[in-house]
Amino acid sequence: MATPNAASVPGRRVPYLNSRLQGFGTSVFAEMSALAVATGSVNLGQGFPDTDGPDEIAEAAIAAIRAGRNQYPPGRGVPELLRAVAEHQQHFYGLSFEPDSEVLVTAGATEAIASAILALAEVGDEVVMFEPYYDSYAACVAMAGASRRVVQLRPPEWSFDPEELAAAITPRTRLLLLNTPHNPTGKVFGRDELAEIARLCVERDILAVTDEVYEHLVYEGEHLPLAGFPGMRDRTVTISSGAKSFSFTGWKVGWACGAEPLIDAVRTAKQFLTFVSSAPFQPAIASALGLPDSYFHGAAEALRTRRDLLSAGLSALGAEVFPTAGTFFVTTDVASLGEGDAIAFCDSLPYRCGVVAIPSSVFYDDKAAGRTLVRWTFCKRLDVLEEALARLKRLAG
Ligand code: PMP
Ligand code: GLN
Repeated sequence: MATPNAASVPGRRVPYLNSRLQGFGTSVFAEMSALAVATGSVNLGQGFPDTDGPDEIAEAAIAAIRAGRNQYPPGRGVPELLRAVAEHQQHFYGLSFEPDSEVLVTAGATEAIASAILALAEVGDEVVMFEPYYDSYAACVAMAGASRRVVQLRPPEWSFDPEELAAAITPRTRLLLLNTPHNPTGKVFGRDELAEIARLCVERDILAVTDEVYEHLVYEGEHLPLAGFPGMRDRTVTISSGAKSFSFTGWKVGWACGAEPLIDAVRTAKQFLTFVSSAPFQPAIASALGLPDSYFHGAAEALRTRRDLLSAGLSALGAEVFPTAGTFFVTTDVASLGEGDAIAFCDSLPYRCGVVAIPSSVFYDDKAAGRTLVRWTFCKRLDVLEEALARLKRLAG
């Protein structure tokens, strides 16, 4: 059967699309999920759990709908969610934010990221980010009329060269975009690395936007918000969402925290993107943020088992597996399977054995560096992961 070149759609010229967005194509996650459906494959591509979050949280959303909380909520977010986000930051990280002026609710972390970049970056500014990078970062920077400067994370530790980072920050740099725990690598940035990033932000007087959506999905080490480092509290917009922590990715409840002048700026952009969103889901996520610590530990433990199963299974198949400390994802180098190109490998995999994965090369500017890297998600039921591994054994046959 012909294999559609799904993962390589980015790059195609789209009529009518403005020049800033040319080349972005269709998100690899949408492409690969469609391919999984079309081929009946096990979808280890897009990171969404196949089990919903806690019943009591779903019931809280249903109760909010029944209680008539279905019209536009306040622009900043419903008061109980603003309070719950502030309490969460205090409880887990000792960071204090004023609910009424330093917290903003958004349509998922995606909108918080877009609003922050659109609000804070001037046309012609530079935004520093690490590669591989989450796909929306580059697109949002382009939409803002800014340009990206990329610093590479190198396996197996996914470490960066501090001198490379220092050199990437120029007089035109407005902000640094940091994702920890990191998608797609599963890296959890360590204290020394974050201290170095913070030191450079302060020394060069740039802002930081941090994407912490996997903050509770950490299996080795601990999650540390950049905002907690010296000099960073008032120059950082900290972003997260309820998607990953509570397994409700479709509810799209996200938030940003930061000093009032930064949140004012982000809110100005946000109000013209969606205005408001997710009215009945906001109180439900507020109650989720108040779940006992045992919930958060339990969710991470359940994923740790899945991480271990998938990592060991992929390794047994002969793939080079890089240790993953957090997130939903594990990265392999498929060169060890005799594969020379991750995109070709992922395009053919559904037809060869009925499994979908994501070619990490699409998250690189330096295509050679990511050429044979493949990301697999383990946020699926154990029997689904076992089925995927059984199917992957066919590759060897
Ligand atoms: N950032 C990263 C690193 C992600 O993996 C995702 C995917 N969920 C998002 C942001 C988007 O989060 P949300 O679904 O809350 O918009
Ligand atoms: N964050 C998810 C992932 O990395 C996908 C979310 C999306 O499709 N935008 O797989």
